Amino acid sequence: MEAGKLSVVATPIGNLGDMTFRGLWTLKEADVIYAEDTRVITKLLSHYGLRTAVLRLDAATEAKKAAEVVARLERGEHVALVSDAGTPAISDPGARLVAHVRRALPEAKIEALPGPSAIPAALSIAGIPADSFLFLGFLPHKKGRQSALTRIAAMLEQDSPCGEVPVVLYESPHRILKLLQELENVAPEARVTLARELTKMHEEVLAGTPAELAASLKKGGKARGEFVVILEPSGI
Ligand code: SAM
Repeated sequence: MEAGKLSVVATPIGNLGDMTFRGLWTLKEADVIYAEDTRVITKLLSHYGLRTAVLRLDAATEAKKAAEVVARLERGEHVALVSDAGTPAISDPGARLVAHVRRALPEAKIEALPGPSAIPAALSIAGIPADSFLFLGFLPHKKGRQSALTRIAAMLEQDSPCGEVPVVLYESPHRILKLLQELENVAPEARVTLARELTKMHEEVLAGTPAELAASLKKGGKARGEFVVILEPSGI
């Protein structure tokens, strides 16, 4: 029997209208969709009137579920993988599953269904040259956080051995003020851009020093929503 196909499908980061035609068609045609949170994908599927079966595959179960996915692919099934928002494997589950399938069943087709992701969305409206940039995702929560911040501050300096490129981070609403405070400690003069609530009604881009941004978020009660944080090199 011919091996099946694993489709890695990007989904909207807020606005359900951002689903691509090809991604939708794939979610419709798949035998099963593995999703980080079944409630999130069910909302998307019902928005588009789709009824494909959904199973859970999150960071905690990814390794365990990989064998199950391989068994399906061996039976010739078409499996789709989605995360809660944006592109799977970008600060989301997906990479371990794909690596496992590649190893265990090299004859299976693995295809990319590109679409939304918060990184290009933020950079596209930040007004910061992004011919190259360094994406670091979420900083470690505890161990290694301080040294990561110190390294980032050094990278923003004009004579950085890494060259002068913007640094892009992800941050959640409940840690954004903490991150701004930490950035103020290591790089008080840094020019920081926050892109929040991308593709949603309250989409907004704010720029300033870490202290200015913290004051603005506190004042406007705006420390809600998801954030992409872009740090500009000092020589830009
Ligand atoms: N896989 C996703 C992608 O391709 O962008 C990223 C998932 S990661 C778990 C979630 C983080 O992405 C959020 O904490 C935030 O930093 C960023 N993010 C996701 N959606 C966003 C949005 N609508 N506006 C701003 N940032 C967003």
